[in-house]
Amino acid sequence: MIKYDKEHAFYRRIMAINWNICGVCENLQITKNSVVWCSECDKGLCEECKNHHAVSKASKSHETVFISEYKKLPTEVLQISQNCKLHNEKYELFCRKHESPCCKKCVKSHNDCKSLTDIDELIKDIKTSNTFYEFEQTLMEVVENIKRISTNRNINLMSIENKNREIEAEIKQTRKNVNHHLDKLQDDLITELLRVEQKEKNKIEKLLTSLKMKEKEITGVQENIASIKQHASELQTFLTMKDIEKDIADEDKFIQSITTNDSKNQVKISCQINKSL
Ligand SMILES: [Zn+2]
Ligand SMILES: [Zn+2]
Ligand SMILES: [Zn+2]
Ligand SMILES: [Zn+2]
Repeated sequence: MIKYDKEHAFYRRIMAINWNICGVCENLQITKNSVVWCSECDKGLCEECKNHHAVSKASKSHETVFISEYKKLPTEVLQISQNCKLHNEKYELFCRKHESPCCKKCVKSHNDCKSLTDIDELIKDIKTSNTFYEFEQTLMEVVENIKRISTNRNINLMSIENKNREIEAEIKQTRKNVNHHLDKLQDDLITELLRVEQKEKNKIEKLLTSLKMKEKEITGVQENIASIKQHASELQTFLTMKDIEKDIADEDKFIQSITTNDSKNQVKISCQINKSL
């Protein structure tokens, strides 16, 4: 029967604790809703049992909490019991070396541990102790640190984004400048090319015009000679030939100079593109 109770209590805690059922009445096979929870007794209590619990000598010092409030505690906290889960006996000591609470039976496995302390002494006024205050302060500081770091990183994130936009704009502007420069270079080169072309064309056309004039002159002379040959006297022919010879000699010199230089005077336009561009 005792064994059953122990196992039953253990089983109840591990599987599911039914805070809504009065533990005292449940032992008497009566199901009643609990209104408060007593951590010392590890039980829920109905209205009736609560009143009894509050005046009974063994339990009147026990602090109780409304079930509705108690259920709001974190699960990890709710799973902490007054009693050792292995032996179902009340915790009495605390081993600092293993950081674990011990019941009378647990102590056997802490034989070599020198730092066993009375657990009641440790937990007395814990909520108003300096240790608890410092614990709260530390948590606050950690949260503040996290917030500060987060703020800094967020600012950093924004500044990186802004800087990137700036650099991107700069790259695009540079590209525009290069384009503009190349456009201007192209325009200048084409203008220069047209100027050179026009200059050389003018020279050649001027020469062609004078050549045409010479050709016409000489054709005229040829016609004269043909008529002299037929109708002039020998003296007339001789003297006219002398005159024409002088003129022709000048003309011939001019033609010769053009012929000699003709191959050299071939106008070629070329362009050297700077490779470094
Ligand atoms: Zn009850
Ligand atoms: Zn109690
Ligand atoms: Zn134990
Ligand atoms: Zn220990």
